[in-house]
Amino acid sequence: MVIVRADRVGKKFSIGSETVRAVDNVSLEIGSGELVVLVGASGSGKSTLLNLIGGLERVDGGSLTVLDTDMRKASEAALARMRLTRVGFVFQDFNLVKDLTLAENVSLPLEGAGVPRKKARETARSALARVGLKGLDDRFPVEVSGGQQQRAAIARAVVGERELILADEPTGALDSATGREIMELLSGLQRDGVTIVLSTHNPANMEFGDQVIELRDGRRLSPATAPDGAAC
Ligand code: ADP
Ligand code: MG
Repeated sequence: MVIVRADRVGKKFSIGSETVRAVDNVSLEIGSGELVVLVGASGSGKSTLLNLIGGLERVDGGSLTVLDTDMRKASEAALARMRLTRVGFVFQDFNLVKDLTLAENVSLPLEGAGVPRKKARETARSALARVGLKGLDDRFPVEVSGGQQQRAAIARAVVGERELILADEPTGALDSATGREIMELLSGLQRDGVTIVLSTHNPANMEFGDQVIELRDGRRLSPATAPDGAAC
């Protein structure tokens, strides 16, 4: 099953009289259960592409289908609903709400989707256990390490059986050993059937990818080569 299909997708930004093609004519296909790694220098379009796939930005050229949703035609409400129930985001700086405990952070998307609070908190606790944070439910983000904050952010992104995780440089703020643990955690979620698209600067993370997609100046470098050397 295809989870993401992009056909000559483009996204421009205008700053004053200048136009930047942040994503330029990119085509790709991501199957269910794949882990896809986006690589490229700073400014190559990785974040913009993730934001298009997650419906945080709108495509302005080509076509983009995510989980059977036409991302050009979907209403804002439908996109917001999709992010609460089917697609989760993970960011470099974790983006946890600092005044909420880890369990409260993880239960946010569930409560947003209408799950009663008590049930949401229970589910959040098991999601935290799943990412290796058993017993830390009632800590605030500042009371745990960066790696543990990222684990909580990943729990928040998958909780509620979400199918697609979009992670923008999830290891970028972590030391290399902790970054590797986070990659292994994501890889474990992939084995459970979650589809993952992540961007990275770290070449060591490429080995986790079923597909590695390299961007330069918004364009996909082609022919792209899979880690096993086969064209893809
Ligand atoms: P990456 O994540 O690979 O560093 P980005 O997707 O953030 O790349 O940026 C790609 C290009 O688009 C850059 O030239 C960046 O300056 C530009 N860009 C991204 N977002 C915006 C925005 N909201 N407004 C204007 N330009 C943007
Ligand atoms: Mg970026």
